[in-house]
Amino acid sequence: MAAFVALSIVTLTHPLPEITLATGITALVANMIGGIAPDIDQPTAPFWRNLPIGGYVGRTLTRLLGGHRFLSHSLVGIFLFGLGFHYLLQILTPSFPKLDMSVIWWAFMIGFVSHLVMDSFTREGVPWLLPIPIKFGFPPIKKFRVETDSFMEKFAVFPALIVINMYWFYLHYDQIRAFVHHYVK
Ligand SMILES: [Zn+2]
Repeated sequence: MAAFVALSIVTLTHPLPEITLATGITALVANMIGGIAPDIDQPTAPFWRNLPIGGYVGRTLTRLLGGHRFLSHSLVGIFLFGLGFHYLLQILTPSFPKLDMSVIWWAFMIGFVSHLVMDSFTREGVPWLLPIPIKFGFPPIKKFRVETDSFMEKFAVFPALIVINMYWFYLHYDQIRAFVHHYVK
């Protein structure tokens, strides 16, 4: 949800290049994948729970990557995933000439970074500066942060994100209409 909110905000505050419907849909999917990708290092995460052999692969990967909220939850991780995804898109470009890969890349990265920002509001924090093994969080006092999978997260943070997004769409209604109209022609 945070990934989508972040994407909405960026999309409606920046001049967008002309994109095809295919690019728009793929960018949305890339945004969602980017939003859960950092939890690749967490075996219990939705990312792995939703795959048939995810439990096993997740546990193995966790051991390789050093455990929950490790490399993929840091600036180095942002860089590595950004680079990796960039190369993946480059390989796919010849097969999908209609897709604007730079838009898709940005959508993925916005999702990815928004995940780390949201994780920073949780008790556990995020090791932004790995290999320096300090976990950062906001607010700095742990007691005031949100507990992952808690009542607070499900019934306050998640609905709040939806409300923010609806309000944001409301504020930019004309822009969204123009955006959609552009495709429906
Ligand atoms: Zn995470």
